[in-house]
Amino acid sequence: MRIAIAGGGLGGLTLARILHRHGIEAVVYEREPSRAARGQGGLLDLHPESGQRALAEAGLTERFRSAVRPEGEEHRILAPDGRVLVHHRPPPGSFDGRPEIDRGVLRDLLLDALPEDAVRWRHRLVGAAPRPAGGFALSFADGRDAGCDVLIGADGARSAVRSLLTDAPVSAVGTLVELTIADADRRHPDLADLVGPGSLWCVGECRILAAQRQGDDTIRVGITLPAVEHDLDTYRSKDAVLKVFDGWSPRLTALIEAGDRPPIPRRIEQLPIGTRWAHHPGLTLIGDAAHLMPPVGEGANQAMLDAAVLGAALAADPGSALQAYEKEMFARIHPIAEMSARVQAMMLAPTAADDLVRFFGGGA
Ligand SMILES: Cc1cc2nc3c(=O)[nH]c(=O)nc-3n(C[C@H](O)[C@H](O)[C@H](O)COP(=O)(O)OP(=O)(O)OC[C@H]3O[C@@H](n4cnc5c(N)ncnc54)[C@H](O)[C@@H]3O)c2cc1C
Repeated sequence: MRIAIAGGGLGGLTLARILHRHGIEAVVYEREPSRAARGQGGLLDLHPESGQRALAEAGLTERFRSAVRPEGEEHRILAPDGRVLVHHRPPPGSFDGRPEIDRGVLRDLLLDALPEDAVRWRHRLVGAAPRPAGGFALSFADGRDAGCDVLIGADGARSAVRSLLTDAPVSAVGTLVELTIADADRRHPDLADLVGPGSLWCVGECRILAAQRQGDDTIRVGITLPAVEHDLDTYRSKDAVLKVFDGWSPRLTALIEAGDRPPIPRRIEQLPIGTRWAHHPGLTLIGDAAHLMPPVGEGANQAMLDAAVLGAALAADPGSALQAYEKEMFARIHPIAEMSARVQAMMLAPTAADDLVRFFGGGA
């Protein structure tokens, strides 16, 4: 059985690793030219019942534990005038249930656990045609082609595989504007101090300014705003973004001014809650391709759990695996997608600041 996985993100790589452990080889086709081609983003906290369970099934718990950053759990919530509302410090040496790990470190950990040739870089899938005898003929952006018996779309938010199963549309539920500040301890000690070893949140009316420290001393700044009808290019200049935070403490807006490059805006999107499809032999989706949700802490965890459920099913009985996985995944994801949409809406509601402080418990 030739298994092709489109997309070498956290879901696709976790699946390839779990299959490899069961002695089933799969080929991961990834559009990026190499593992170092793109920064992978900020911290993730992996939950015991999903992301960590998948890593256990991948045989990578020990390596994960030595790569986590417990200090990343520290968080501060500030008012727009700079007052500290909440300052949570985890006890030294504590390893709570959801430790943080740099996303790039996690991806490397998975890549290092796969055979050298498991990932075919620079392979952007552009077409998958069912073959009369079963399986799919795959075509790639540079004209190459390949074949497989089973195709798993792990190709993220803008999945190319998804349209073979469903025409569910993605819709925008917010806007995320990102900046990075490299080498923060040395170049911007005041900002490094403000953010601390974990994360900082500052919530105003329908706007959130957040910052997160990565293991390499980079601060990632993420600004969440309502979805916009107009062109996102409006937010490609620091001046335009600073205007959104007019009247906020200069200590906080300094996080925008210090960005190494102009801000990068993008839409926060989701698939309709309850998206499902009729089973199609030899074809399925995992992760964001299957259930794109607002980024409130579940997407990567669920992508990895999808991989664990599907990997175990393929190892047990390839004939019924895809259907068994889809049944479990549709039921599991529905309430999580509902919760994620609710939290996203709450974050941009006028009462968000009070809600967040209540959630984390007040007191500096
Ligand atoms: C700002 C932000 C913060 C987040 N924070 C969290 C968090 O704290 N916790 C959490 O659990 N989740 C979080 N998420 C969600 C999480 O990032 C995603 O849900 C997760 O990455 C999904 O994994 P995936 O493998 O399905 O897709 P991806 O990680 O997007 O991987 C898809 C891969 O497919 C490749 N690809 C795409 N198209 C093709 C193609 N046509 N051919 C070949 N390859 C292709 C891409 O290059 C990529 O490598 C966050 C998301 C954002 C945007």
